Amino acid sequence: MSVVKDLNPKSNQIALLLGRWFSEAKRDLPWRRSTSSYHVWVSEVMLQQTQVATCIPYFMRWMEAFPTLQALASASEEKVLKLWEGLGYYSRARRLHAGAKALVASGREELPDTYEELIKLSGIGEYTAGAILSFAWHKPTAAIDGNVTRVISRLFCIESLVEERETKNQIKERVDLILGQKKWPCVMEALIELGALVCKKQPLCERCPVSGLCEGFKEGKAAMLPLKKARKAMVKLYRFVPILCWQDQVALEKRKPGEVMEGLYEFPYLPFDGSTDHLEEVRAKFLKEHNLEGVRYQKLKEVTHHFTHHRATLYPLLFFLKPGQETNHTFYPVHPETPITFSSGHKKLWTQLHILL
Ligand code: SF4
Repeated sequence: MSVVKDLNPKSNQIALLLGRWFSEAKRDLPWRRSTSSYHVWVSEVMLQQTQVATCIPYFMRWMEAFPTLQALASASEEKVLKLWEGLGYYSRARRLHAGAKALVASGREELPDTYEELIKLSGIGEYTAGAILSFAWHKPTAAIDGNVTRVISRLFCIESLVEERETKNQIKERVDLILGQKKWPCVMEALIELGALVCKKQPLCERCPVSGLCEGFKEGKAAMLPLKKARKAMVKLYRFVPILCWQDQVALEKRKPGEVMEGLYEFPYLPFDGSTDHLEEVRAKFLKEHNLEGVRYQKLKEVTHHFTHHRATLYPLLFFLKPGQETNHTFYPVHPETPITFSSGHKKLWTQLHILL
């Protein structure tokens, strides 16, 4: 008898218990109020690197501005990025936009309902394709994210590294077995929800609907699973940010294609090693190079922001330029309606300026 066949009765029971639990316990989330494939797509892309609570207002604003695939396809990139401002990982918004344009150009009003067609679209990977097929088109398709990986590793007490191909295959095989119960179309979503609400980093096994079937729980190994490789260390970055103010305008730079923060606006900045001496040196060099020595300035509050595995600390100084001290930067009015999208750290500086100027 094969291992997979042995797992069938357990998988059946898991599907049954999860389906019942989900119908009672699932959260009322705005993207669950519709099974539109477009809604599922946008929400899944937003949720990729962002917490549910943060995504909710963004999702609502997005759907108000772009209620359909067609509306998104015909929007400008500036508007798309503006609505994404603060969520980070802006390539997600760009890929949604490109995907919508491609779909509309090919005459579609909805996303495709096959894996092969979905996976060809910009911004749709294995997980998102599975989620769209499962949540929008009700096809029993695996959508394996971090939550599902955690739940399955624990339920079946899988003790190999989750990054390994063999482990990924094992997890997928078990999810497919659980999804085999076609009478419970919500089981994929239920597995994800269980990971988000109950089988969290610190598992709440006493509240779990499938604890009686969970090997990780029985063996006392739940909290140590899944096994992962050590994380990349956090890299600290330090940046001197000269904010050049000319009347009610400030100098900004738009990050070029291929640069970190591509397409977003930031104040000019210069990297340094974090030491006070070097900060002074960098500041003096900048002033000399731009003929700004003696210009009046004011210190602003330092700001920290995170992206990928970096933590950047920004050291801003606001310089008040006088006639004849203009630089070759592009200047923009400091006004809430100025239609530009900032990276998150520079957005905090922009907010400080609104209070000051
Ligand atoms: Fe996770 Fe505990 Fe439930 Fe097992 S019993 S699935 S470890 S919450």
